[in-house]
Order: sequence, then C-alpha cells, then structure tokens
Amino acid sequence: MSTGVTVLVTGGTGLVGQAMQAVSGGSPRADERWVYVSSADADLTDLAQTRALFDKHRPTHVMHLAAESGGMLKSMAHLVEMWRTNVAINDNVMLCVKEHKVEKMVSCLNTSIFPAMKEGPMTEAMLHDGPPHHVGEPYAYAKWMADVMSRAYRREYGCNFVCAIATNVYGPGDNFSLSDGHLVATMVHKCNLAKKAGTDMVVFGSGKPLRQFMFAEDLAQLMVWTMRNYNDEEPIILAPDESDVLSGEAVAGMVAEATGFIGKIIFDESKAIGQKRVMASNARMRRYLPDACFTPMGDGISKTVEWFSVNYDTART
Ligand code: NDP
Repeated sequence: MSTGVTVLVTGGTGLVGQAMQAVSGGSPRADERWVYVSSADADLTDLAQTRALFDKHRPTHVMHLAAESGGMLKSMAHLVEMWRTNVAINDNVMLCVKEHKVEKMVSCLNTSIFPAMKEGPMTEAMLHDGPPHHVGEPYAYAKWMADVMSRAYRREYGCNFVCAIATNVYGPGDNFSLSDGHLVATMVHKCNLAKKAGTDMVVFGSGKPLRQFMFAEDLAQLMVWTMRNYNDEEPIILAPDESDVLSGEAVAGMVAEATGFIGKIIFDESKAIGQKRVMASNARMRRYLPDACFTPMGDGISKTVEWFSVNYDTART
C-alpha cells in the first residue's frame, strides 16, 4: 500500500470498525485515507446505493466488515433475514469492488462457518470439509459463501479478495442487546441489571461450551495487518492461542468480578444451544506473526464493563 490509498471500511461504525478507528486514530498512516461508513451512508443490500457509495469514495482498497450479525439467539430468530441481508451485502460489495478495479478487499468471516462434524482445532484447510452447525445455519452459510465467492472472483476476474476468519470478538461499542447481542456483551448488560436490581444473574446455557475470545482492538490490528500483508486465496484465521480457550462460566465469573456483582450466577441449561467446543488454530497466523500479543480477557472485560457503564444511555442495547 502506498500514497494515494483510500481504504473504504464498510461496517465502520460496528464493534470492529470502532476498534479500528480507536487503534489507528482514523487512518493507520498519514498518507492514507481510511473512510468508515455505515448503513446511514448506504444500505449495502441495495445495489444502486452501493454503487453510489463506491462512486463517491473511489476506494483503492476495501475493508469489508459490514454484516447483519449478532448472537445465536438473533441468528435463530431471524433465519431468513440473516441469510438474505448478508448475501445481498456481500454480493453487492464484491460486484462494486470488481467494477471499480479495487486493488484489494479483505472480508471478515467468523468461526461459525467451520464444519460442525469435524474435531477441532479447525484449520483453514478444513473450511470446506462439511456443513456448519445447524443452529442459525443460514447466517453461517451466508458467511461461508463469502469465501466461495471470493475465490470465484479471484479465479474468474483476478481480483485480490482475501478472507480473514475471526473468533468471538467483544469490546467497547459492542451490541449489548439482551436478545441480539454476542455472549460477552449480553452478559455485561445482564450483570449490570442484576447488580442494580439486587437479583441473581441468569445466563442462558450450561456455561460449559468452550470458545476463543478476542478483544476488538486486537482483531482490528490484525485486520489492518492482513490488509497490508496477506494476499493468499486460502483464508487466514485470526485468533488467540488454543490454550486461551474459555468456558462461558469462566467468562461470566470475569464479568461479575469486573462489574462488582456479588450475587449468584444461574446457568439455565434448558437454553443450552450450540456446539460444545469451537476452537480454531492460529498456526498460519503465528507463522507470519510469532510475537502477536492478545489482551488478557480479564483486562478486556474490565475495559468493556467500564465503557458500558459510562455509555449506558447511548450504547446499543
Ligand atoms: P456490528 O454488528 O457491530 O456492526 C455491523 C456494521 O455493519 C455496522 O457498522 C452496521 O452499520 C453495518 N451494516 C449492517 N447492515 C448494513 C447494511 N445493510 N448496509 C450497510 N451497512 C450495514 O458487527 P461487528 O463489528 O461485530 O462485526 C464486523 C465483522 O466481523 C462482521 O462481518 C462480522 O461477521 C465479523 N465477525 C464478528 C465477530 C463478533 O464476535 N462480533 C466474530 C467474528 C467475525 P450501522 O451502524 O449503520 O447499523
């Protein structure tokens, strides 16, 4: 990347987009222009609006973060919308990237796209070894197909489309909705409410499933690195180490400690859904970045809890 670079960041107002702005102060390098856009700038499910956005900013690079995403409850409640919205966004963005001869696009996928029947840790090579887990599967399929279409654009049109696959992300600016949010943000909100009301905190599920979690600013830095350095057709998993895997129960304990909640945490096993363990290997990433550091989960949760408390009135809930 060099002078004259304009990076269009779709989904620039979301959790990861906000973190990208925070770590870079807007543009990671002074001679580059990073433009962060949201659905207020263009509804990317609409091709005409997407084309107008590209005509306006004429990007040389695209960091594609925009998605209709959320926790498992959201993916299960809006099966059709999660497919239609995400497929439309990806289809329109990819077409405009090709039409505008954009030099490179990096798309952000997630670990729900890995085959459900495979034993982990998942590697990039296993991505197309079987279908994703059935819970909220239209969303997973929509994200999965972004990799298929990225490869198709590369092979047919020579486009430099790269996919990064990230593990669970959390941090300031997340969606803290009790019904639509991801696990950490929803727990932070629930814990805050339970503390205020002096009640128990009820967490959906057994608390036993294991996941890898990443502070949004860590992912933002890795995504910027991917934009600068990674150009392969095979995607790259951006994840902390397998040894950093945590149960929902452990995360709930950290959230309670950071919130100062001393009540009981109840796990509602009748709402147990999803896979027992989702683990992804970061071996490929470590080959390029052997010294990459990740924010310890306790520190990241403390920052998230503090942010939520300060921004309670304006946070996405
Ligand atoms: P958020 O839900 O926080 O933000 C979504 C962003 O997409 C917002 O900026 C939103 O704009 C924009 N957007 C949604 N719909 C449209 C639309 N129709 N037209 C234009 N823009 C739209 O997402 P995250 O930051 O959490 O996720 C970013 C990317 O990372 C996504 O692709 C996601 O799948 C991926 N990812 C996320 C993980 C996570 O745990 N959060 C884990 C792994 C990958 P607006 O603010 O206007 O609504």
